Amino acid sequence: MSSAIHIYISPDTARQELIKHTLSLIFFNKGHSCAFTAHKDDALITIGYSDQNDFIISENFHQLLGQNVFSHQQQLSHNGNIVNKFGGTDFISTISYLVNSFQEYYDNDPDQYGRFKYTNSLQHQLSSVENNTAQQIIDYLFTSHPKLKELKTSARKSRVFLTHDIDSVYGSVKEDGRYALDKLMPMQILRLIYNATLGTPDWLNMSKIMKLEAEYGFKSTFYWLLVKNKQNSDYDFHSPPIAKAFEGVKQSGGENGLHKSMGESSFSEEIKTFGTMPRGNRFHFLKFTLPQGYDLIEENALQLDTSLGFSPVFGLRNSFGQPFRPFNLAKNRPYNFVEVPQILMDRTFYNLNMPIVEAKKKFFDFVEKNKYNCVFTLNFHNNFFTELKYRGYSQLYRDILAGLKELGIEGIMQSEIIEEYYKL
Ligand SMILES: [Zn+2]
Repeated sequence: MSSAIHIYISPDTARQELIKHTLSLIFFNKGHSCAFTAHKDDALITIGYSDQNDFIISENFHQLLGQNVFSHQQQLSHNGNIVNKFGGTDFISTISYLVNSFQEYYDNDPDQYGRFKYTNSLQHQLSSVENNTAQQIIDYLFTSHPKLKELKTSARKSRVFLTHDIDSVYGSVKEDGRYALDKLMPMQILRLIYNATLGTPDWLNMSKIMKLEAEYGFKSTFYWLLVKNKQNSDYDFHSPPIAKAFEGVKQSGGENGLHKSMGESSFSEEIKTFGTMPRGNRFHFLKFTLPQGYDLIEENALQLDTSLGFSPVFGLRNSFGQPFRPFNLAKNRPYNFVEVPQILMDRTFYNLNMPIVEAKKKFFDFVEKNKYNCVFTLNFHNNFFTELKYRGYSQLYRDILAGLKELGIEGIMQSEIIEEYYKL
């Protein structure tokens, strides 16, 4: 990393910690660090509300935040930017708003599960969910701003974060069996029943998944549900077959994490059941709200969360493809964990009834546009690896791994993400 860029923020500016955090993210993205100075003459860049500054902040953005107004309809212009009082784009506040998902704060129109609806998002309104908008703004600044374009920059090569939510281990008889029955495949039904009762259930397949990954030089992280009931898992986390699979992941160099259940049980209860302190979490059903979800991750001392994805669509829920520390507005400092946006989930494509070839194309088009500055977080459930109800998905996964390997894109694990991005 080269020497720090000196930045002056005019003292009459509100939300200085938020501005500093966003600037640190922007410069970190380009291989620099920031040093904030109280002396204007020492600064390369000045920030403030007046037009005497290099970057002009929107006072209105801060006033609306002060009134707890977060919705994109009120905060953003029709083309998705925060605009300052001189009519120019406030790039810094726009990035703060996008990356931190402020549009979701205190949402009053959640879906049936209590989640922020994709259809209420600015990404839906602007048809921009597949765009890495915050990155595009950063790139634009560093190629067009007279002071920034002179700086030497560097970029991180994109990497892939492979993850698996383990929702069901014993559902194969029912779900794949139903499929086999509909397709008149009696031998398949007999095999499923035999495996479920005497052999290994088809969906207790963590070692099969890891073997497939190893063929291409990848490892992955498995997120386990600790609550067995209708809304959550169909397995007992402490039962011998599950305990064995859990240990098997560790022994093969993979990682395990918490898949926080829906319902009444608390994080602390589930962490206790987990046995050791999990590094990371993903909320089951991606069920969380903001800022409460981030508060819970921090209060329970998790170092990483990877729940930030839209269930109904492929793409970027916060218009940013890199792990980051979200900003805690209430405490006026960054949260103590790293959020890793999830871009692709198998079930999204399944629910959309999207042909496998199209899903593959969608992913690789995204990869092509984002060879730098992304961590591609993929979530493939264990039950998508059987060739009945979810046929085609295990081949899709294999094709994705093969394609990434060919492009020279390496894997990244929870521990490495924390190491690289927590400092932000
Ligand atoms: Zn789940």
